[in-house]
Amino acid sequence: MTTISANLQAVKSRIQAAARSAGRDAGAARLLAVSKSWPAASVRAAFTAGQRAFGENYVQEGVAKIHALDDLDLEWHFIGPLQSNKTREVAEHFDWVHSLDRVKIAERLSAQRPAGAPPLQVCLQVNVSGEDSKGGGAPAETAALARAVERLPRLRLRGLMAIPEASDDVELLRRRFALLRELLAQLNRDGLQLDVLSMGMSDDFEIAIAEGATIVRLGTAIFGPRPTKGLA
Ligand SMILES: *Cc1c(COP(=O)(O)O)cnc(C)c1O
Repeated sequence: MTTISANLQAVKSRIQAAARSAGRDAGAARLLAVSKSWPAASVRAAFTAGQRAFGENYVQEGVAKIHALDDLDLEWHFIGPLQSNKTREVAEHFDWVHSLDRVKIAERLSAQRPAGAPPLQVCLQVNVSGEDSKGGGAPAETAALARAVERLPRLRLRGLMAIPEASDDVELLRRRFALLRELLAQLNRDGLQLDVLSMGMSDDFEIAIAEGATIVRLGTAIFGPRPTKGLA
């Protein structure tokens, strides 16, 4: 068994155990394998081990891998910061975007999504830690952004995404994840039908699952420490 397939198995059992101990279904949280900075061959190895959904942070790197692997039936998620001059590439090549935080970007993605493709599945990124350096909209602006995105014909709003600050403080991380869960619940009380909480990375995914994550985004736990740390 390769390291990647052993890591995948280990991580999947931790995901299931975390869900069960939170009183949720074992399959309640889906695994997104974050392949940024790893070559197409690593993605292929993970696919062989049964993984279908992959996340990329950089448009050019992601599109190159999508082309290199177009013989495989993969689901591609864009999870990085998105500039307006890169929206067309994302709209044309990816299945999901987790990092939507501006109406202007949403409008471009909707306009540029090819007619033959299914709607682009999107999550709104919320800045739950209040750090200036983090992407994402302010929690108080989430509802207005959600209403604007809901109206766009080629996007399908699925839920919310967050990246809390790295921290050893479990209670702090719990509060960050709980805030995202409460924001989603409020949007649903206001009449939306959102089913995705994209939260939790290699160092904190068990806490995120305890707080309701439905997608966890793991890179290091599957592929190992990234070779080009500077980029990440
Ligand atoms: C890199 C990255 C991840 C994965 O991080 P790990 O700590 O390697 O699991 C998840 N989400 C986003 C948005 C990332 O940029």
